[in-house]
This record gives sequence, structure tokens and C-alpha cells, in this order.
Amino acid sequence: MTHSDRTPAPANTSSNPGIRSDWTPGEVAELFELPFNDLLFRAQAVHRQYFDPNAVQISTLLSIKTGACPEDCAYCPQSTRFDTGLSVEELMDVQAVVDQAQQARQAGATRFCMGAAWRSPKDRDMPAVLAMVRGVSALGMETCMTLGMLSDSQAEALAEAGLDYYNHNLDTSPEYYREIISTRTYDDRLQTLERVRSAGMKVCCGGILGMGEQRMDRVGLLWQLATLPTHPESVPINQLVRVPGTPLADEADMDALEFVRTIAVARILMPASHVRLSAGREEMSEEMHALAFMAGANSIFYGDKLLTTANPEENRDLQLLAKLGISPEPLTLHSAPLDPDPRFYDASSPHAA
Ligand code: SF4
Repeated sequence: MTHSDRTPAPANTSSNPGIRSDWTPGEVAELFELPFNDLLFRAQAVHRQYFDPNAVQISTLLSIKTGACPEDCAYCPQSTRFDTGLSVEELMDVQAVVDQAQQARQAGATRFCMGAAWRSPKDRDMPAVLAMVRGVSALGMETCMTLGMLSDSQAEALAEAGLDYYNHNLDTSPEYYREIISTRTYDDRLQTLERVRSAGMKVCCGGILGMGEQRMDRVGLLWQLATLPTHPESVPINQLVRVPGTPLADEADMDALEFVRTIAVARILMPASHVRLSAGREEMSEEMHALAFMAGANSIFYGDKLLTTANPEENRDLQLLAKLGISPEPLTLHSAPLDPDPRFYDASSPHAA
């Protein structure tokens, strides 16, 4: 199911008539070719139709199981195939995850993303994973997980437990994908996305820039995302973090303006989706962040430091947002108390579903 054999979905796949899923690769390429100022003006105009331009959604990410992944994603320090010196950590205890989520919420995060370095979850891990979803959800936060490929029954169980978002990235264009990963196919990824959607969860799906791909691959990635029958609600655009020991450790610098350009095109193609600045932000200047927000990025991952910084005023991200007059987007999904009853998420509790 690549460019050549996937038919774009019909035009209006959402209740909003301005949203299209029938973009052609040529239209996407033309957007990339626009003069920079024209592109940013268009992206900003679209952004203002759909979002408060001075608000960003804030997520926090926790690795609930780290390293020893059998896959061979060339950018990833968690693959067992590359010697990156990463310490392997088993699946975390449910209560420890909920405690971290509570800290993140107190520091201002509205969505808590939990990531496990798996090809796909084992059935024996599912009770703990589902308990984590229930526990974080009970805090009144949005929940997101990234656990690798899912079966139908696993997707249904996660949805049943209340998982709001499932993250599964396409990474790059179908054509360049084979240069990056050999242990699972682009179609495998699209199938997991379909399962997530069918189970009723929201989709978080994007890619990584700066892996040595060409502009046509960035066109291909965005075209894939923008022609899914329903756009991903969340579109993370990552910049490669060059980790020593991985095959992409010595990749050339990503051109900053091309990165911003990609954000702007994503905003125009998927006007109602949150476009997220994710990995690689540590290397981005304040000016690049500001341009990315102007281009339509409206979601960020807070760094890990948020969980350990006593005074959030000292947090670099919050300082930047304050400088730009940008506020955290308020959460309206849940309104549960900060101190939920553990019986509702304890995997060993008879109250847990
Ligand atoms: S599947 Fe995920 S954790 Fe595993 S190597 Fe690929 S990116 Fe890393």
C-alpha cells in the first residue's frame, strides 16, 4: 500500500468541509515550492481558522520500557542491534507510572504519553499496560501510548481501557522507508493505524526529518498522512537526534528552514490536526521554535526535566512560551480529581476491568 497503489480517500472525511483527504502528490509538492513567506502566510491563515494561534498543547513522554527492542530502526538507540550504551529497563511498575503522570500534570502537562520499546506488546504485558491507561486517565489527563504494532484484540483492549491516542509513526516516505527499517513494512504500519482507528482511538502519527531523505520523501510522508481516510489528530514532526552508535549518527544537519517548511505544509494539508514539535527540539534555537509556531506547530513535548524541576518557572520551555505570549492549551477532555482511587487502575484489583 504505497504511493502507487493506495487510492486517496474521498474529499470530505470529517464534519468540517475544509478538510480534504484527496490531496495529490503534485499539490503537496507545489506547497513545498512556494516562496517561504507565502507558505508561512498561508499556513498561518489556515492555523488561525482552526486553532487559537497563541496556544500550544503540552504533552509529557515517559519511557515505560526501555531498550532491547528487536527492530532495526536506523535512528533508534533502543534497538538491540546497535551499541549505544543505553541501559535496558524492564516494564515499569504501574504505580510508578501513575506517580510520574501525576507530577507531570501538576507541572502543566495535559497529555501523558507512555512509550515501550517493543516490536509489539506481548499478551502477558497487556494487564499492566491497561492498568497504566486506567490510572493515568483517572488523573484527568489525556492518555497516549506507543507500543509497536497492535493486533485487533490489543487495539480493542486499549480502547476499552480508555486510551485516547495511539502513536505509531510512518517515519518517512514509503520509498525511503526501506533505507531506514527492514524488520517491518510500511504496510504493517498502515495496518496498525487502521486497527487503532477501527477500535475508536485517536491517531498520533508523523515522521522524522533529517535522516538523509530528499524533499520528495518529505512530500511522500505528508501525502501519506494527509490522504489517510481521517487525518491523524496528532502529527509529530521530529528532527533526527543523531545518537552515537546508530547508523544515522553521522547524518548531515537538517536545514532549519526546510524543517519549518515541512511544518507549514503539514499545517495546510491537515488543518485541524495538532502538529507537534517532538524529538530534536533540544537542538532548535528559540528563533526556530518561533518560526515553527508561526508555521502552525501547536503542540510540544516537554523535556524530561519537567518531571524533576522543582520550580516550573525555571523551565526553558515555559520561559520561551512566555516570551512568545503563548499559553498552554487547556484540557477539556477529563475533569477527574488529582488523587484517584487506586482501586480503579490497580491491575491486581478486582475493580480493574
Ligand atoms: S520499534 Fe521503536 S523502540 Fe524499536 S527500534 Fe524501532 S523506534 Fe526503536
